This record gives sequence, C-alpha cells and structure tokens, in this order.
Amino acid sequence: MAWQLELRKLKACCLSSLRSISCCDLCGENVNNSFLLGYSLPQALLCQNCVNDLPYFNQQLVAGNLLSWPAIYHALPNIHFEQLFALSPYIYPFNKWLAQMKYLGRFELAHLFSALLCAQWQAMVKHQALAPVDLVLPVPLHIKKWQLRGYNQAHLIAKCFAKQLTFPYDAKLVVRIKNNTSQMGKTGHQRRKNLANTFALQRKLASHIKHVLIIDDVVTTGTTVSEISKLLKQAGVETVTLVTVCLTLPKSN
Ligand SMILES: [Zn+2]
Repeated sequence: MAWQLELRKLKACCLSSLRSISCCDLCGENVNNSFLLGYSLPQALLCQNCVNDLPYFNQQLVAGNLLSWPAIYHALPNIHFEQLFALSPYIYPFNKWLAQMKYLGRFELAHLFSALLCAQWQAMVKHQALAPVDLVLPVPLHIKKWQLRGYNQAHLIAKCFAKQLTFPYDAKLVVRIKNNTSQMGKTGHQRRKNLANTFALQRKLASHIKHVLIIDDVVTTGTTVSEISKLLKQAGVETVTLVTVCLTLPKSN
C-alpha cells in the first residue's frame, strides 16, 4: 500500500534526523556526529569538551596498571589477577551513568563506556607492552538474576569492547552456578567466603589462551574477578587483566 510506504519513509527520515543531531548528555550542547574518539556509537552522547573533562585515572602515572599504584594494590589484598585497568573512580558522571544503565535501562551507555574504554586501552598499549589478548569475558550473572533483570550490564559493555578491538569474546565460558547474596557491606574476608565455589567453566579452555581480559562495570574489592581468575589459572591461563569502567575502593578489609 502506498500510504504504508510513505509512513515507513517518514519514520526512517525522523529516525535518521534523531540520530544525526542529539544533545550532549552532560552539558546539553548539540552533538552532530555519532563517532566518539574514532569509535562508532548508536547515537551521539557527548560533546568533545565534556569528553576532555572526564575524570579519568591518570594511566601514564600508573603505566596502565592500577595495581602498580601502592594505595590501590594494598586496598585489594588476596587477588588473583595481575593487571587492573579502570577508566575512573566511582564519581560523577560515571556513577550517574552506571545507575542509569542499570536502573533506567539506558543501554546506549554500554556503547559509550565501550568507546571510552577502547580509546583509553589503545592509548595505553601504545606505551605499554602487553601480552596479546587471547579472550575477553564478562563477569557473569546467575541465570535467575539475568532473567529477572533481563540483561547483564558487564556483558553489554564487554561484547561491544571486544567487537571494537576485534578480540575473541565468549560470554558463556564462565557461568555463575551459585546465586549469592549481595556483596554490599561485606568485608573482603566475608566476600571471599560468600563467593566460594560460585563460578564454573562450561568447557575445557583451548591451550593457546594465556591472557584473558575480564570486563566488569564497577569493581570494589576485586573478589569476584579474583574467584574467576583462580578457575582460569587452574585451566592454564597465565595472565588475567581486569578491565572495568569504575573502581570504588573499600574503606577497610
Ligand atoms: Zn558536553
């Protein structure tokens, strides 16, 4: 029908103008392209001034690995991963965005986090010799929590990050077999106890996989990724790098 065709054209036209012009999420200025630092986004989200003002950790100061910063290394005892890469402390605007993604369903923010992580990662590897990345994994959710929530925010970010950097990605290798109580408010020791035997590998790992990147949205004690790292090390992995949007350090352990 001709009128249906016209309606489809009108819809496509409206969508394309919405895509090409949008407002910066932080200052409200018009942003008219959907590329951020060379990485494509489903819609433009930030103007260049706000990108330049984001409160990143100083990657040059820590040579890309936040564990080389004594204050961070000592705040994360008993960890089983070698490298930690985070964009920012858990502060504005990242804390606002992470909450909006989790509770308001703003999934387009996963693309923003991924583009920012990719750009910082690329900047870091220019100055820092790293072992080649053999596999990228998200921190998994228990199936019941995934069904209840409808998504795993770590998976949304990790899938995008791996695709942009053409790293192999597997969201199903590690599964969460125990639906633990929340880690909030627990000490490091209590978190480790709560997480014991929580994860399992779904299959045997290929022998060439030596360096694995695990992606999360927010890291506090590193206990969750540490438990996954232990499993991967038992399966032959040599180096685990934790990549996260935010790092919020515990006050005490
Ligand atoms: Zn702006």
